[in-house]
Amino acid sequence: MIRTRFAPSPTGYLHIGGLRTAAYAYALAKHSSGEFLLRIEDTDQKREIKGATQKIFDVLEKFMNWDGVVIQSDRAKAGVYRDAALKLVNSGHAFYCQCQPRNAKEQGFSTTLRDPCRDQHNTTGAVKLRIPDNETLTYNDFVLKHEVSWNSNDVPDTILLKSDRLFATYHLAVAVDDNFQKITHVLRGPEWISSVPVHLLVHRYLGYKWPEVGHPTSILDPAGGKLSKRKGNSSVEQFLADGYLPEALLNFVILLGWAPKDNRELFTLDEFVKAFDINGFQKSNPALNLQKLDWFNAHYIRQKSDSELVQLITPYFNHPKLDEIIPLIKDRITKLSDVPSLTSFFTSNPPIPPDPSLSPDHLRFAINNYDRLIKGELIDNIKSKGWKVGDFFMSLRIAICGSRSTPPITETMLILGKDESINRIKTAFHEY
Ligand code: GLU
Repeated sequence: MIRTRFAPSPTGYLHIGGLRTAAYAYALAKHSSGEFLLRIEDTDQKREIKGATQKIFDVLEKFMNWDGVVIQSDRAKAGVYRDAALKLVNSGHAFYCQCQPRNAKEQGFSTTLRDPCRDQHNTTGAVKLRIPDNETLTYNDFVLKHEVSWNSNDVPDTILLKSDRLFATYHLAVAVDDNFQKITHVLRGPEWISSVPVHLLVHRYLGYKWPEVGHPTSILDPAGGKLSKRKGNSSVEQFLADGYLPEALLNFVILLGWAPKDNRELFTLDEFVKAFDINGFQKSNPALNLQKLDWFNAHYIRQKSDSELVQLITPYFNHPKLDEIIPLIKDRITKLSDVPSLTSFFTSNPPIPPDPSLSPDHLRFAINNYDRLIKGELIDNIKSKGWKVGDFFMSLRIAICGSRSTPPITETMLILGKDESINRIKTAFHEY
């Protein structure tokens, strides 16, 4: 059975690239009725942000569900990583290192390739992997579809267990838990390729079966370079808060580095699972094209029923007649947070811009014939006055909404009510 996992660290928000990894891992497992598991990689307690684990659950469950969770800090406290590290020390594949942590880089690699402690027979300290000399370390990446190799002489001795003797670094914890969770296919962000040689050795020395491992291509920032957590807005939570629907975000990330055989663009999660094919992973780096995201979002908004939209829009714009307003603006919404600017004239009197299309004659005629206008009975009269129907209604749009681009104007006036509509037309008439 195929078993995949998504293994976020609670060190910040869920990144759009993380959502993509999760969607790919989910589809890979579910396409063949396998299992998709979650693992919270919280062994770097210094970098952990309070509440981030719960946020990951809350955000991810808007997109997909999972078949089980492992929390690494619980496993650390139970001594799981310590036992694995001791095994490696006892078999001579790891050694105790007493260098100060400042000697090691964030991911646990030594700053010197071969750590001076490796021959000192210490019995306390952090545990480091003893990298062998002159070996070619190779794996076949199932996403990139080629082999990747390193010479072990270029791989630094690497911390596996911190000096607290409980908490592992990523390199040990990932191997122990991929084995523990019986992961058959590891799919993760491209930034992790460089740690594969260490994982190859840890798997081998602990007697673990090597899973299939794959890294999708990097997502490019339209402003240049790779998309990163530090640059710009790439937080899934922020996209949701801005009024992007989960369906749209999911569809968007699916196609950032994967494509179906046909040119199909619209996928729900279930449809993606059905269509998923490992050969669909692409070789070129995709750019984060936000116009495309807007297009998906507008599409999924139009798929919603009016009553669903009322629910979704209320946090952004609350109005007693929202259910009447929504059908008028539905086609013009790109994201939910657009609604207040599309509808501001329903809540307050808009300023009326000077506009040569605004004709006092049109306005006077509308005031004097309001009831028939609203019933749609004036078209012939408008024409017989020699006016173009479009011009007449343009005057009304500007007077009522303060804008040339508005929802259907008669329906808008019906929602505003007769008094308010006539007041606005009169105001515009007196101003011009
Ligand atoms: N914890 C890593 C991350 O936050 C995941 C690495 C992996 O999937 O092996 O991206």
